[in-house]
Amino acid sequence: MDQTKDQAERELSFSSIAASSQLKDQLARAVSGNDAPLLLVGQEGAGKDFIGRRLAAALLCQEPDPVTGACGRCPSCRLFTRGSHVDLIEVAPAEDKTSIPVADVRALVAATLPIYPQLSARKVYLIRAPKADSLNEAGQNALLKPMEEHPPFVRFILLTEEVDQLLPTIRSRSRMIRIGRRSQEEILQILAQAGFQGQGASLAANYADGLPGQALALAGDSDFRRLRDQVLDLLLEIPAASRTQCLTDYLNFFREEKKQIALILRLTESFLRDLLILQRQIPETRLINSDLEEALAKISRAPKAPDPAQAAEIVRQTGRALKANANFDHTVARMLLALRANLGGHREESAHYQARESFL
Ligand SMILES: [Zn+2]
Repeated sequence: MDQTKDQAERELSFSSIAASSQLKDQLARAVSGNDAPLLLVGQEGAGKDFIGRRLAAALLCQEPDPVTGACGRCPSCRLFTRGSHVDLIEVAPAEDKTSIPVADVRALVAATLPIYPQLSARKVYLIRAPKADSLNEAGQNALLKPMEEHPPFVRFILLTEEVDQLLPTIRSRSRMIRIGRRSQEEILQILAQAGFQGQGASLAANYADGLPGQALALAGDSDFRRLRDQVLDLLLEIPAASRTQCLTDYLNFFREEKKQIALILRLTESFLRDLLILQRQIPETRLINSDLEEALAKISRAPKAPDPAQAAEIVRQTGRALKANANFDHTVARMLLALRANLGGHREESAHYQARESFL
């Protein structure tokens, strides 16, 4: 068999999911199990969509494998891959909206429920309600009846990040599958499948926190590595920097990268987390910035002992203050001086005091 065809066939099956065998077993059991709605629960970036689609393909496949799901070859699988399967009904918030209108639930689900599948033995409703406001109570109520009473050929797959937002009646009737964080190896495998390898891939994996979506976004972001190098260089230098340098060069850097402030703060937190791990000698914990271990270790042993926990608290406060539209220059300037002080640099009592006060 030629390789591309082989790959296309694998693409829809559960073997294309880099996840634990327990999760894949759960998926296989869900396909062969009763007609209870399937609830896929996982954080943003956990891979709910990727897995939900493979689950739907397996439910629709005309010759599914009991272990690996969709065959990838049958007419159903081929239509599924082309995105034009008539027996797959997808319900999600419109692209520019955050919620699914109750009218959509009625028109797309309740009204079409009795219609027989046309190609497959089943009909699958794939409903994406990731956030708390994706499907309000009226929408959930409109979904409840079809979920409870439907023709035997109907299956529901509901994707959500926040299972607590769902009505208890929906939760209790569903079979829940939790998509947890993946291992570092699984993330690297997912990145390799998407064509990302080498140092860029391992860095993205380190920052992804077990979330494939996060890893793929970071690996595909050429700006990420540049920014990461610049931010970490700045943090390595800051203990020895002068007040003027903090308030000119460094502040300018933050101004220029203002749009990326959320990522910069995350990078800063990763740096501080690594520093804390080294300082407290926490065993068997991987550094996110493992390539900088030596430089980080040097800071952690500085004569004026750094306080990464306090510094991290200031970074989090800065994030909250900026979200609440605090003055950018002032907030960042205070953070820079506080970082300098808490990373073993010069401690300015007045600036430090102001920094704390301004956050109260
Ligand atoms: Zn098939």
